[in-house]
Amino acid sequence: VARKDKRLARADKHPALAISGMEKLAREALDLTREILERCGPRLAGSEACERSARMLRDRLAPLCDEASVEPFEVRPDAFLGFLRVTFGLYALGTALLFLRRPVPASLAFTAGALLVVFEFLLYREVLDPLYPRRTGHNVAAFIEPRCEVKRQLIFAGHHDSARVFNLLCYLPRLYRIRLVGAFVTVAGMPISSWCWAASGRAQAWPWLGAADCVLGAVFLLPMWWFLGKEGVPGAGDNLIASAMLVPIARRLRESGGLESTRVLLFSSDAEEAGLRGARAYVRRHEQALRGLPTFLFNLESIYQADRIQFLESDLNGVQPLDQPLAAQCVALARDLGLPARTFRMYPGSGATDAAEFARVGVRATTLIAMPTDVEVDDLVYHTPRDVVAAIEPEAVEACLGIALALAKKLDAQSL
Ligand SMILES: [Zn+2]
Repeated sequence: VARKDKRLARADKHPALAISGMEKLAREALDLTREILERCGPRLAGSEACERSARMLRDRLAPLCDEASVEPFEVRPDAFLGFLRVTFGLYALGTALLFLRRPVPASLAFTAGALLVVFEFLLYREVLDPLYPRRTGHNVAAFIEPRCEVKRQLIFAGHHDSARVFNLLCYLPRLYRIRLVGAFVTVAGMPISSWCWAASGRAQAWPWLGAADCVLGAVFLLPMWWFLGKEGVPGAGDNLIASAMLVPIARRLRESGGLESTRVLLFSSDAEEAGLRGARAYVRRHEQALRGLPTFLFNLESIYQADRIQFLESDLNGVQPLDQPLAAQCVALARDLGLPARTFRMYPGSGATDAAEFARVGVRATTLIAMPTDVEVDDLVYHTPRDVVAAIEPEAVEACLGIALALAKKLDAQSL
């Protein structure tokens, strides 16, 4: 009864949603998410379970599309977050060298650790990749051709791989942001201070710096050693539901006779959680086709709550601009459906989505995120074993489908 009340309250809050006719499509997406979870479980990038989920998606899309395929690519899934331990190792090495009064080698070790964070974590470059074992990832791509000549392309995207458990978020969510800022300050501050001491030549200060270093390292960096758990999370809301939504999107487009002059690509990546490597491989392989026509990307990421819809204007820790007019247009479409949507800019430390990879080659991209931004709560779902289907509001799925289909219609009518 309480659940029904909640639904009714929400219907009151978003009256337009109740008449948008998305309930059936949303149910299809939720059922498919449940089914894939039952058959595949957690889906770490490049794993056999992840490949199975890709094939299930392809099989569902194939009858609704003109073409549907699974595209394998090479990935080293542990490389992206491998920097957590490598940086800690370099930091410990630098500290030991300070005690041994070797300031220059110590400074070099700290500097290497800091550069790793910048290139591997903030810019998502492939610095450590050669050191990690190779696996095969599997993207899914399906096309629906328009009735007439193709004038533009519209990509709907999600990812079917799931993350490893983020132990800190799962077991120590309190002070998460302070921990993160402290770790950044430590990683950035140590090379600066140790180079300063090295340049000053005041040898007596080095053990003091080393001691300060031990304290900072123990408080802020040591927990990072255990940041990642071994197990994968179910990843229902992040982001299997997004990939599952591709099927009802294809179904609705098909049933309504297809679009007039817009080619639709339904894309689900592998290895998003391993540093966007799946989208990167796809974009690399199909760059010409993506650049050949005006191309738009509507990427879906972390779908939980209808009243938390945000469209990204920038990505990749704020470094990669996304398409602001597209994001603004999506906000307007969401508000037409009675949803309190807004735009959002990523900032350093907030991570990245697959849209960054597409935007790099000129695709007009935005990402819809529908999750609470407060991470310091005890029942946080994101990247924890609690990310199951029950954590997804059906209204959030209805909202995403409504906005996605409205965008397809609008683009096809050349009114964007
Ligand atoms: Zn995700």
